[in-house]
Amino acid sequence: MPLLCKECNGRRFPIAFPEQRDALWLCEKCKNFVDIKDEFVREWTEEEINQNKTKLENFQKEVTSEKTPEIKRRSGVN
Ligand SMILES: [Zn+2]
Repeated sequence: MPLLCKECNGRRFPIAFPEQRDALWLCEKCKNFVDIKDEFVREWTEEEINQNKTKLENFQKEVTSEKTPEIKRRSGVN
């Protein structure tokens, strides 16, 4: 499995595409995809990069908004 990038030795992440049977493996540093056989498929498009950024930002927003004020459990209450 192409877990590591041949070019930068970085970690690749499997990205699933609905129109494709197999996931493609993304290197965020080299901005390209390889298939399961570690063969170059295509570049990571700017659109996808932006989408990814938005997703990350939304995720971070969610995490911060979900942070509830510290729940303090006093021992001996139950
Ligand atoms: Zn790479």
